[in-house]
Amino acid sequence: MIIGLLNQKGGVGKTTLSVNLAASLAHAGARVLLLDVDPQGSALDWAAAREGKPLFSVVGLPRATVHKEIGQIGKDYDHIIIDGPPRVTDLARSAIMASDLILIPVQPSPYDIWAADEVVKLIEEAGIYKEKLKSAFVVNRKIAKTAIGRDVKEALSSYSVPVFTSSITQRVIFAEAAAQGKSVHEIDPQSPAAIEVDAVKDELMGFT
Ligand code: ADP
Ligand code: MG
Repeated sequence: MIIGLLNQKGGVGKTTLSVNLAASLAHAGARVLLLDVDPQGSALDWAAAREGKPLFSVVGLPRATVHKEIGQIGKDYDHIIIDGPPRVTDLARSAIMASDLILIPVQPSPYDIWAADEVVKLIEEAGIYKEKLKSAFVVNRKIAKTAIGRDVKEALSSYSVPVFTSSITQRVIFAEAAAQGKSVHEIDPQSPAAIEVDAVKDELMGFT
């Protein structure tokens, strides 16, 4: 499956979720490719910070031809995760056209909910050409012990795109792991962060 992490808003967790979902799939035994479509190359930076064996392949492809090249580049992998770009619409469009499923990370803030209409519009446009394109929101950086997670799900329900039941809490371990080019699973496979990432991965795999 080709999963695109998209949202033109920066800082919502595209790279964090891309890396950790790729790791979760790799830990489950899949051959995984992480395609970095962001010109900033954050996923490539993550891979460069890493010591030791790679968990999965990371390739940079910040070009609007992702949808044309992905068949060739991705042919030896079970799953491909696309870490999408901020802003740049032609890149985002290409990443959407390349994907089977778009996962849109959103933070529990009104600004994120308003900004999501941009990516939803792009997905709706792409849906005209790509009938089977699926998409869903996933809430990231939920603050533990607050009702805000529930509120954000309600606020997002005005969009045609469904919201995942599983979500990711705001946790320092995500930054700590990233600093070492690791996934949260490698820091601690039993950590609440790793368990949440696995739950999102399972929901992704069962999403039809
Ligand atoms: P994007 O790729 O959408 O721009 P990033 O994945 O780079 O977003 O995340 C932006 C910042 O937020 C990074 O510093 C990252 O470490 C931090 N971050 C993302 N998700 C979480 C989380 N669940 N808990 C704590 N920090 C997070
Ligand atoms: Mg990023």
